[in-house]
Amino acid sequence: MCDSGASEHFTFELSDYSSYEPFSSARTAKTADGTSQLLGQGTVIMNHKLSNGSSHLVKLYPVLYMPKLNIRLISNGMLCKQGLLATQDDLRIIFSYRDGAKQTYLEGYPSTPGTTLTFAYGTITHKNPSTVPPVSLGNSVNAKSIVTYDTWHKRLGHPSSDVFSKFEKHVKGFEKGVLPKPNPHLRCIGCLKGKMKAQTYKESNKRATRPFELVHMDLKEYPSLSYNKYKYILVVVDDFSSYVWLGFLKHKSETITVFQRWYAKVFAENIRIKYIRSDRGGEFVNKAFHDLFSKYGITHQTSAPHIHQQNGRAERMIQTLNDKSEAMRLEAGCPRSWWQFSIETAAHVYNRTPLKRGNWKTPLELNYGDVPDVKYFKVFGCEAWVFIPIEKRSDKLSPKSELMTFIGYESGSKAYRFMNSNNNLIISAQATFFEDRFPRLGKNEEITTKDSAPILLDQPNVPDVQGRLDSPSPAWGRRMNRGRTLDR
Ligand SMILES: [Zn+2]
Repeated sequence: MCDSGASEHFTFELSDYSSYEPFSSARTAKTADGTSQLLGQGTVIMNHKLSNGSSHLVKLYPVLYMPKLNIRLISNGMLCKQGLLATQDDLRIIFSYRDGAKQTYLEGYPSTPGTTLTFAYGTITHKNPSTVPPVSLGNSVNAKSIVTYDTWHKRLGHPSSDVFSKFEKHVKGFEKGVLPKPNPHLRCIGCLKGKMKAQTYKESNKRATRPFELVHMDLKEYPSLSYNKYKYILVVVDDFSSYVWLGFLKHKSETITVFQRWYAKVFAENIRIKYIRSDRGGEFVNKAFHDLFSKYGITHQTSAPHIHQQNGRAERMIQTLNDKSEAMRLEAGCPRSWWQFSIETAAHVYNRTPLKRGNWKTPLELNYGDVPDVKYFKVFGCEAWVFIPIEKRSDKLSPKSELMTFIGYESGSKAYRFMNSNNNLIISAQATFFEDRFPRLGKNEEITTKDSAPILLDQPNVPDVQGRLDSPSPAWGRRMNRGRTLDR
């Protein structure tokens, strides 16, 4: 029965569920005649029959299990909350997608004409829930909904509540009044697992006075290979703005190549770097780098042997990004080899996060003068239903969209990166996000690494703004050229 009074969907039949999780302790719910026990919840899939005779699969989640009931209840309010539009006349109630097409998702009509009780008809089936799309799919963006503090905290890479409160003023993309008040008491699993802590460092007193006057760099080795078989990252940090670029390497010997690629872009912008600071590691102190620096008129400053603090900026940046990256990755239960994606997302978010030292301007603004827009930010590792263009579907009957995991922003275009269930990297701009669900959570998988190129489903070509290293709008922005994905 379609019920306007019910706050949730309910069933009394355990065998209805396609997937089910019992509650660790029974909960109680108020009913018309007292209270009743709720034992668990899950997904119910119905082959739903519409009044025009056609039928399709409908996925209801969460459906609560209440054995004492004697009728199954579909909550009208829950369907609307999940993004459907309800229209009712004296014959029936129709829940449709909001994306203009007004396609019916679920319909309730009376068993006998003239009564006011409406029912959704069909048979319950037992499909794998992940193959059945949830509500509000299509080309549309998310249905308008209230985004909680918790979700923004995750989208923005787990900032402290102090930093969080500065976003509204220094970053674009929040609809008015949408950004919730920070909740300093939030206990975030990601923050706890990623061991985030407020970092206090003594600032060195000599600071650059303009972007690219002084640039720090450092190389970090990771304990495990990444998805694309990388083992190192090269971190480049601008001293004035704290803007950060990342380069990915398979071998230490690639340091100079990756650096050169980055430098070529800076040079093409007519930007001259005065000083570069690094430690005395062999990857930086060698003839090739020496020759390169003298050719470009750059003074290479190295820290005195055994004194690490002089190169502290780049090292601390790695630490900061790593904390954010691990908080995001662990929160979403993503495999270790995905550090490559989580750290890139961390850098992308960091460059758009207000900085106390910069009077709460973001590194992007300090470096390039552009106020970032973060409207497109999503929670790393969350569930996404990616639209499959008709020409890429295997046949006419295959689904319009596919369940994937969101893993970051694609450089130089207005597209997102996803991992599909076969662990292939997918690039697309059209998806519907469910930011409180994490498909990889609890799977404990270790994904094999891959050499294959990403699959482009749909990537609107947006020209770069003046060929900048980072073009905040309309494209997400470009970071250091990492080779394969950008070289094409
Ligand atoms: Zn957090």
